[in-house]
Amino acid sequence: MTASSPITQDVMTIPRKMPEGPINLVGLTRAKLLATLIEHGTPEKQAKMRVNQIWQWVYQWGVRDFAKMTNLSKTYRAELAEKFVIEIPEMVSRQISTDGTRKYLVRIAGGHEVEVVYIPETDRGTLCVSSQVGCTLTCSFCHTGTQKLVRNLTAGEIVGQIMMARDDLDEWPQPGVGTGDAGPRLLSNVVLMGMGEPLYNFDNVRDAMKIAMDNEGISLSRRRITLSTSGVVPEIAKTAEEIGCMLAISFHATTDEVRDKLVPINKRWNIEALLAALKAYPKLSNSERITFEYVMLKDVNDSDDDARRLVRLIEGIPAKINLIPFNEWPGSPYQRSDWSQIKSFADVIYKAGYASPIRKPRGEDIMAACGQLKSATERARKSRKQIEAEAGL
Ligand code: SAH
Ligand code: SF4
Repeated sequence: MTASSPITQDVMTIPRKMPEGPINLVGLTRAKLLATLIEHGTPEKQAKMRVNQIWQWVYQWGVRDFAKMTNLSKTYRAELAEKFVIEIPEMVSRQISTDGTRKYLVRIAGGHEVEVVYIPETDRGTLCVSSQVGCTLTCSFCHTGTQKLVRNLTAGEIVGQIMMARDDLDEWPQPGVGTGDAGPRLLSNVVLMGMGEPLYNFDNVRDAMKIAMDNEGISLSRRRITLSTSGVVPEIAKTAEEIGCMLAISFHATTDEVRDKLVPINKRWNIEALLAALKAYPKLSNSERITFEYVMLKDVNDSDDDARRLVRLIEGIPAKINLIPFNEWPGSPYQRSDWSQIKSFADVIYKAGYASPIRKPRGEDIMAACGQLKSATERARKSRKQIEAEAGL
């Protein structure tokens, strides 16, 4: 394989069971799993213990075949296999960038597809997870925004993306041996920055992240999970209370006039309303700063004046600002800011006392970078004219 050619592999095409088939246990919270087992005949007295056992097999060791759950009786295993399945989304293809980034296309029930990206770094590995097929919002710089919302992902389909990546990275500990925490993990962080607006699918995202954080399973620390939102203000406090993960905000502009065009949800909850919600964010402390994501668009939002306004706006909020050089996609109506301007913008912020890392675009050769995701197979597309009209361009 030459350095310049990404690797594409078709993985498998096994037809997936339809929702009316047996119940899928993946994605059920502990409480729901308990209720489901009891409802389907597990004696109440045993049910809690069974939940713990099944949970450990599925989420700690990655086992999906009831027959292999050797601490359950053979008859009980057979009963489970009759009534339930343990299924995750099907990996349809995998592309590996020259920089090691992996982009997966996964198929979910109904034949829809979403993208998932794994980004290896020296000290961590981050999985960028999708929460919806498409997006109802229409941020004018985002490729996903050109795709109509098809549907919300279920909790099982969300946590299933993490399980699928652990399969691919071969990172499940051996059953009965350890928890997988002996060394640094290949998949150590999760960001809800794939396709969709996670706060418009709150309950499923919450249940999936609770499962991912559970100590007797995948066991990711809540500090290693970051939820990115375009600013669904009423759900922001709930994120802290019910999920407790880190928060990133797609801020992207310093005036309502510009933000209305870039992030149209701003017309519903403007900068002032958004900042008020962030100031009230319950878990705020200096070690748990909110990340402000800021996409750098040439001559649109990237002036030094913007940088100064940004600093004034976020005053009083423990924050770091993540500058994202715009990633172009076919037909995108913007250009990436010049490197010198990105540096100058970062400098203003840094001098005001904030960390201002510039996000290195990863996986560009396979269109895996931020905001480039979109399943090519979805038919419900918006026209370029529609995107421009919605953005008021
Ligand atoms: N819907 C959520 C999460 C998904 S997008 C949200 O909007 O926050 C993850 C991040 O990528 C967001 O900050 C988004 O604004 C940014 N992004 C979208 N399109 C981009 C592009 N073409 N170039 C760079 N960043 C982009
Ligand atoms: Fe949706 Fe986020 Fe893209 Fe906006 S940036 S269209 S909210 S995925």
